[in-house]
Amino acid sequence: MSSPGAHRAKLCALAGVAICATGCATTDQKFGDQPWYQDTKQASAKAVEVTTTTAAKAAEVTSTTASKAYARMQKYLAEKDLLKTFHDSSEHSEVAVLSVLHKSGIAKTPAPAPAGGAAPGAAQPKPHAAPLTPLTTVPEQYAGALRWPLDAGIVSSEYGERWGKVHQGLDIAADVGEPVYAIADGEVIYAGDGLRGYGNVVILRHDRKTSSLYAHNSELKVKVGDQVKQGTVVSLLGSTGHSTGPHVHFEIRNGDVAVNPRDVLPKSKLADAIGPSPDPADAGPELAGAAAQMGHSPAM
Ligand SMILES: [Zn+2]
Repeated sequence: MSSPGAHRAKLCALAGVAICATGCATTDQKFGDQPWYQDTKQASAKAVEVTTTTAAKAAEVTSTTASKAYARMQKYLAEKDLLKTFHDSSEHSEVAVLSVLHKSGIAKTPAPAPAGGAAPGAAQPKPHAAPLTPLTTVPEQYAGALRWPLDAGIVSSEYGERWGKVHQGLDIAADVGEPVYAIADGEVIYAGDGLRGYGNVVILRHDRKTSSLYAHNSELKVKVGDQVKQGTVVSLLGSTGHSTGPHVHFEIRNGDVAVNPRDVLPKSKLADAIGPSPDPADAGPELAGAAAQMGHSPAM
């Protein structure tokens, strides 16, 4: 049985315990010998300890992920001559990819205005215009920065002219199972193996016009309709489809048009070191990766 005054003092002491769980001198002196006070103090201290441990563990996981990626990058650098032989073995089906993009509502590149001006009834939708699905999950225009799709790897084939055509993406070689990350927040508009040449492939859309594609995976980690965040693992790297060895064929498109990923990805120290060199003699082995953007870029 306690008086109202004692009860009030107890509540105040509990509040004090909550604020300084490791013990407040004055509160300790006042209530230190009360069993209820000791129990509360111990429970609060434990709660603080758990919170601290969880935060420490999260930091540790981040640090471990970064150091593991760094270790893989060192391994890939040592094997770069072999890794550079892993790329696409032949063309991919452009028609199949465009079909997916148009079905998903990604706008086609605007066609030039027809000569002679608008015909009567021009206000009607063009019959060949792609049906646009409501943009409920992606913004009109993605505003964030992009990230590289891998934490570690070796670029084995650049975007641009290849085999008399344009290589629509960047090939980045690494071990089977290397995590492949979404370069930005988005929505999965394709996940499967039905696009000729691409093997197991994921396509994301990030806004009205921007999409990214990740091909030749060993395993897909997402399905059509999934919402992904930047950095979500969408697949594991592999060698399915038209491929000479484990690599990701990676595309970024603006509408129908594939752009050079290097033009829109962060200019990491790593990418700068391996980008097109004004002096051909300097054009050394090419590396991809986020090692630099992850904050550890010694000697790369
Ligand atoms: Zn490729």
